[in-house]
Amino acid sequence: MSLRRSRLCPLRQIIAALSLIALVACAEKPTAADTLPLTQPLPGSQQTKTVAPITTLAPMSADGITVPSQTFAEWQSGFRAQALQAGIRPDIFDRAFANVTLDPSVVTADRSQPEFSRPIWEYLDGAISPTRVRRGQGLLSQYSDVLTRIEQRYGVDRQALVAVWGMESSFGQIQGDKSVIRSLATLAYEGRRPGFAQDQLIAALQILQNGDITPELMLGSWAGAMGQTQFIPTTYNSHAVDFDGDGRRDIWNDAADALASTANYLQSSGWQKGQPWGFEVQLPQGFDYLLADGSQRKSVAQWLAMGVSLPPGSVIPAGSDQLQAALLLPAGYRGPAFLVLDNFRAILKYNNSSAYALGVSLLSQRFGGGGYLQGQWPKDDLPLSRTERIELQTLLTAKGYDAGNPDGIIGANTRKAIRSAQAAQSLPADGYPTHKLLESLR
Ligand code: CA
Repeated sequence: MSLRRSRLCPLRQIIAALSLIALVACAEKPTAADTLPLTQPLPGSQQTKTVAPITTLAPMSADGITVPSQTFAEWQSGFRAQALQAGIRPDIFDRAFANVTLDPSVVTADRSQPEFSRPIWEYLDGAISPTRVRRGQGLLSQYSDVLTRIEQRYGVDRQALVAVWGMESSFGQIQGDKSVIRSLATLAYEGRRPGFAQDQLIAALQILQNGDITPELMLGSWAGAMGQTQFIPTTYNSHAVDFDGDGRRDIWNDAADALASTANYLQSSGWQKGQPWGFEVQLPQGFDYLLADGSQRKSVAQWLAMGVSLPPGSVIPAGSDQLQAALLLPAGYRGPAFLVLDNFRAILKYNNSSAYALGVSLLSQRFGGGGYLQGQWPKDDLPLSRTERIELQTLLTAKGYDAGNPDGIIGANTRKAIRSAQAAQSLPADGYPTHKLLESLR
């Protein structure tokens, strides 16, 4: 579900926490703070064509928060005209908006900028908990026939589908209990990305008009991510499918529809059936960490020729020698290293966070007893707080390394500045923000 076109990354990322190495998919976007969701994932990177806002936007304050220039009722009246112009029937609109009021909790969630970030190792502990692994294994068995048919139709591996299912909604158990119409109306009225919210709201009304769900049952997260797949409405309209053939695309209550919809999305994101997501590697002494920026793609064989090796006892997945891979260091040079392939990038399209994609990838392997890492996370190196990230950006820029706008989001510019500062100090230039670097700049 992620969202956005402006400098902010996908919606789920705004509540982000841990800054990670940017991957290619991230770099292709205007911003990309490749960060970790602190709370349950918001709908992800499901990309949408954000068109110009339908209504005239209210002025923005310095922190990007819209200052409404009209009452909610006035906004609703104006938006109704726009929705009808977009083809929504009056009765559909009026039923959807019956008794809809502003949701203050959505405004609060939209504006929250967490001070502290969750380390990736803690995030992964939750993502790949033994309970989740066991439940996923049970569901792989329970839905074996359906998954076979979905694999045949979409060419997406079942373990990945069940892993996404687990990560997005704990296999349907946590879908969000907010009215999607109310949440999106609130965000369209006074959120940080009103144009995006309006697009989603129109898409949500189209779903209602299509008869897939009723307004009362159209529930989701505060950001409008819906159902077991946590699709935002535009992604729903482009990728949700009615797999059981009952005439409705029911990603809320029908696991087959939800799994097939996820498969459809991953297929269109470039999934390659049977290929690995990637694998853990080790780097040689003196490795040039500038190569680990996510945009450097080489064949697995080329990486190996440069001294990248596999941990003891592991082997390269069969047939992957010539596949293109990028090097990922989610916690800097001291932590585990990975070569990530096309399927990892497909997962990033679902949610543009390398921690999320790693969670899905390792969880999918864990179902079969794999997915254990040999590298150690640098647990003595806690992520910088938001205040510290802003200070780091400010210090970097003051010392001649342009870190961009000091917003606390470690994006491509900041990572580049960090690498330059690290290189000047003869430190490994991995672009990873640490307390040590911050102290050296003070
Ligand atoms: Ca259905």
